[in-house]
Amino acid sequence: MENKELLEVENLQTYFTLRKWGFLRVGEVKAVDGVDFELKKGEAVSIVGESGCGKSTLAKTILGLVEPTGGQVNFNGKTLDISDKKHLDWYRSKVGYIQQDPYGALPPFMTVRRILEEPMVINGIKDEKEREKRIHRALEDLKMTPVNEFINKFPHMLSGGQQQRIVIARSKILDPGLIVADEPVSMLDPSVRVEILELLKKLQDDYEMAVVYITHDLSTVRYFSERIFVMYGGKLIEKGPVEKILREAKHPYTKALLEAISDPDPENVKTFKKVPPGEPPSLANPPSGCRFHPRCPDFMEGKCEVEVPPEFILEDDQRVSCWLYEGED
Ligand code: SF4
Repeated sequence: MENKELLEVENLQTYFTLRKWGFLRVGEVKAVDGVDFELKKGEAVSIVGESGCGKSTLAKTILGLVEPTGGQVNFNGKTLDISDKKHLDWYRSKVGYIQQDPYGALPPFMTVRRILEEPMVINGIKDEKEREKRIHRALEDLKMTPVNEFINKFPHMLSGGQQQRIVIARSKILDPGLIVADEPVSMLDPSVRVEILELLKKLQDDYEMAVVYITHDLSTVRYFSERIFVMYGGKLIEKGPVEKILREAKHPYTKALLEAISDPDPENVKTFKKVPPGEPPSLANPPSGCRFHPRCPDFMEGKCEVEVPPEFILEDDQRVSCWLYEGED
């Protein structure tokens, strides 16, 4: 049977063991705890949540940088197996990664040319002219022109925004089908954030790349994602089309996040400063039942702290894990 999804994440779990004195097992951090979603070719989704909700661990698990404890990641119908080096090399050539900290992501003693050339050499692109052509195209796509002004520079000679453009250029140099961008603009000056997101959007359109955009900033998701997934306590608690979620969020946590954004207009990208009252849950000792229940204004005693809400599917494929919507699906 033909597989229409590019990426399928099925009941993904990533747990870390907590140890005392280096050997005594004292607990477990459930950073990703039963995450499901699919992504089509060329589609962009945003995964939104506060720091510590597990979204970066989810990104790393999808990238094959962390081994899942359970569940699986399928790409183009093949299950990711990080113990198989050949398969992992193939996977890494198909899935690009944009890190949060561009300076830390770039080798300081390599020029821009070598940074962009390296993945091609590793992946067996032997034709030097072809490599040079791709480097020039990537720099032009990222508006690093005239190319000769940048190609022989070292990372420290570039601004933060220019460094992040090089990270993006490197992530797409092998024409991957998917890019995972983990908070790609959060460490950049606010004045260049919009520009970088617009460039990423253009690349997604021009090359039909799928993008998983990880962010804590709900106000930037409208830029280029078609769907939003809201993450809380290691789980995706609401999913749906961007416009639907931004206008008619159902989950009390998503509503609180939206209220905390002072200006959701994408022309005025702002990071929300306020978050719902209370602390995010400890992933080592999460609350029983619904993980949002200690902070929830709609908490129903005897229900919410007892049973984990399943995912209810509402109109327009909006999905919400909250007992308030029981019987509405
Ligand atoms: Fe609030 Fe209960 Fe819904 Fe959780 S399940 S979000 S505690 S109403």
